[in-house]
Amino acid sequence: MKGWKRLHTADNPTEIGFVRGLLEAEGISTRVQSMELWAAAVEIYFAEGARPSVWVPESQFHHAERVLKAADQARDLPAWTCSACGEKHEGQFTVCWRCGEVSDDR
Ligand SMILES: [Zn+2]
Repeated sequence: MKGWKRLHTADNPTEIGFVRGLLEAEGISTRVQSMELWAAAVEIYFAEGARPSVWVPESQFHHAERVLKAADQARDLPAWTCSACGEKHEGQFTVCWRCGEVSDDR
Protein backbone atom coordinates (compact mmCIF):
# COMPACT_ATOMS: atom_id res chain seq x y z
CA MET A 1 0.00 0.00 0.00
CA LYS A 2 1.88 3.05 -1.27
CA GLY A 3 1.79 6.01 1.09
CA TRP A 4 0.63 3.86 4.01
CA LYS A 5 2.72 2.61 6.89
CA ARG A 6 2.10 -0.24 9.32
CA LEU A 7 1.52 1.20 12.76
CA HIS A 8 0.57 -1.76 14.88
CA THR A 9 0.21 -5.54 14.69
CA ALA A 10 -2.46 -6.94 16.95
CA ASP A 11 -2.89 -10.25 18.73
CA ASN A 12 -6.64 -10.43 18.16
CA PRO A 13 -9.55 -8.71 16.37
CA THR A 14 -10.70 -7.02 19.57
CA GLU A 15 -7.40 -5.19 19.82
CA ILE A 16 -7.71 -4.10 16.19
CA GLY A 17 -11.11 -2.64 16.91
CA PHE A 18 -9.76 -0.83 19.94
CA VAL A 19 -6.83 0.68 18.03
CA ARG A 20 -8.97 1.76 15.07
CA GLY A 21 -11.47 3.38 17.40
CA LEU A 22 -8.73 5.40 19.08
CA LEU A 23 -7.21 6.56 15.82
CA GLU A 24 -10.44 7.37 14.05
CA ALA A 25 -11.57 9.41 17.04
CA GLU A 26 -8.45 11.53 16.40
CA GLY A 27 -9.32 11.95 12.72
CA ILE A 28 -6.67 9.48 11.53
CA SER A 29 -7.55 7.20 8.61
CA THR A 30 -6.92 3.49 9.14
CA ARG A 31 -6.76 0.32 7.08
CA VAL A 32 -6.52 -3.22 8.37
CA GLN A 33 -4.58 -6.00 6.66
CA SER A 34 -4.93 -9.75 7.17
CA MET A 35 -8.30 -9.67 8.87
CA GLU A 36 -9.74 -11.80 6.08
CA LEU A 37 -7.20 -14.52 6.82
CA TRP A 38 -8.42 -14.56 10.36
CA ALA A 39 -11.94 -15.31 9.32
CA ALA A 40 -10.83 -17.88 6.73
CA ALA A 41 -8.96 -20.35 8.89
CA VAL A 42 -7.80 -20.61 12.44
CA GLU A 43 -4.57 -22.36 11.38
CA ILE A 44 -3.57 -19.36 9.26
CA TYR A 45 -4.01 -17.16 12.28
CA PHE A 46 -1.06 -18.86 13.89
CA ALA A 47 1.11 -18.61 10.79
CA GLU A 48 3.88 -16.04 10.68
CA GLY A 49 2.71 -12.72 9.34
CA ALA A 50 -0.97 -13.57 9.41
CA ARG A 51 -1.81 -11.46 12.41
CA PRO A 52 -3.94 -8.43 11.56
CA SER A 53 -2.21 -5.08 11.40
CA VAL A 54 -3.41 -1.51 11.41
CA TRP A 55 -1.99 0.82 8.76
CA VAL A 56 -2.14 4.59 8.67
CA PRO A 57 -1.17 7.19 6.03
CA GLU A 58 2.54 8.10 6.31
CA SER A 59 1.58 11.74 6.83
CA GLN A 60 -0.39 10.79 9.96
CA PHE A 61 2.03 8.17 11.29
CA HIS A 62 3.65 10.25 14.02
CA HIS A 63 0.32 11.53 15.25
CA ALA A 64 -1.00 7.95 15.32
CA GLU A 65 2.05 6.78 17.27
CA ARG A 66 1.42 9.39 19.93
CA VAL A 67 -2.24 8.41 20.21
CA LEU A 68 -1.31 4.75 20.71
CA LYS A 69 1.42 5.55 23.20
CA ALA A 70 -0.94 7.67 25.30
CA ALA A 71 -3.50 4.85 25.27
CA ASP A 72 -0.86 2.31 26.35
CA GLN A 73 0.13 4.46 29.29
CA ALA A 74 -3.51 4.84 30.31
CA ARG A 75 -3.93 1.06 30.26
CA ASP A 76 -0.97 0.62 32.61
CA LEU A 77 -2.60 2.68 35.34
CA PRO A 78 -3.46 0.65 38.43
CA ALA A 79 -7.02 -0.45 39.10
CA TRP A 80 -8.83 1.55 41.76
CA THR A 81 -11.83 1.25 44.04
CA CYS A 82 -14.36 4.07 44.33
CA SER A 83 -14.16 5.66 47.76
CA ALA A 84 -17.84 6.63 47.62
CA CYS A 85 -19.55 3.37 46.59
CA GLY A 86 -16.81 0.72 46.60
CA GLU A 87 -17.11 -0.13 42.88
CA LYS A 88 -13.88 -1.51 41.34
CA HIS A 89 -12.52 0.07 38.13
CA GLU A 90 -9.83 -0.53 35.53
CA GLY A 91 -6.97 1.98 35.54
CA GLN A 92 -7.99 3.80 32.35
CA PHE A 93 -11.24 5.03 33.89
CA THR A 94 -11.05 8.15 36.00
CA VAL A 95 -14.70 8.52 36.97
CA CYS A 96 -16.88 5.94 38.71
CA TRP A 97 -19.48 4.66 36.23
CA ARG A 98 -21.84 3.83 39.07
CA CYS A 99 -21.95 6.99 41.17
CA GLY A 100 -19.91 9.58 39.21
CA GLU A 101 -17.24 10.00 41.89
CA VAL A 102 -13.84 11.09 40.47
CA SER A 103 -10.93 8.84 41.42
CA ASP A 104 -8.82 10.24 44.27
CA ASP A 105 -5.62 8.81 42.82
CA ARG A 106 -5.36 11.12 39.81
ZN1 LIG B 1 -18.67 5.09 42.94
